[in-house]
Amino acid sequence: MHSSIKLGKVSGIEIGLHYSWFIIAALIVFSLVEHFRQANSSWSTAQIWSAALCTAVLFFVTLLLHELSHSLVAQNRGLRVRAITLFALGGVSQIEGDAPDAKTEFWVAIAGPIASLVIGFGSLAMAAGLGWKPSIEPGTTVDAVLVWLGYINIGLAVFNMIPGFPLDGGRVFRSIVWAVTKDADRSTRIAARVGQVVAFLFIFDGLWQFFGGAGFNGLWIAFIGWFLMDAARSSYAQVETSAALRGIRVSEVMSKDYILVNRGMSLQEFVDDYLLRTGQR
Ligand SMILES: [Zn+2]
Repeated sequence: MHSSIKLGKVSGIEIGLHYSWFIIAALIVFSLVEHFRQANSSWSTAQIWSAALCTAVLFFVTLLLHELSHSLVAQNRGLRVRAITLFALGGVSQIEGDAPDAKTEFWVAIAGPIASLVIGFGSLAMAAGLGWKPSIEPGTTVDAVLVWLGYINIGLAVFNMIPGFPLDGGRVFRSIVWAVTKDADRSTRIAARVGQVVAFLFIFDGLWQFFGGAGFNGLWIAFIGWFLMDAARSSYAQVETSAALRGIRVSEVMSKDYILVNRGMSLQEFVDDYLLRTGQR
């Protein structure tokens, strides 16, 4: 996932946007406009649009803060973080290398959901401080923005803690299995399998809802499931490959019987007499 637009650097970590982000940003702004229009019938069009744009920008800032928490904890524990990219399904931190131990994996994974929870409850607390109560619709624009951000961030924390590897919850689950079994490969295999089951449930639930008349929302859930399924499968394959190749040396896989050719030979001779005849490439 490489970003097409670079926004700048935080603590040496490049922050960027993938082109697919624009699709989701537009969808979020339109759905927020719809949300504010329905919730506040007295608002003017300008008020609705400015609230929607403000909320969308702040929402992406909170997503970045979620990813930054993962990244800064990773940096703090000695891992190199190259970049954070926002894309259609949220954010992704490009952390180089795997966590060296279960404890690092656990703290890096849980830092994001903790950040989202703190932001979520913080936003609701600020709204409450401005006079909002959970039983009533927020009255002012600021309240409405804060309440939406509060609920969405709490939702984000809860969603990310679903134990579907490679979601944060799946990584937390993997770190616990790792700590119990003391076997990093085995913990990835188990977490990836559980992740595939969770992903399958997403797809099933999404299609169920879609055929039940939920429309786009159902398809969206199924799409996230499909994405998770793919990510879990490739994590599984990656462990299998690196486990199969571990301990093998270059000398064991390289070809040792090769022919030396005279450097003064013409290319024609080389191709006719050696390249085509021997089949060596
Ligand atoms: Zn996360």
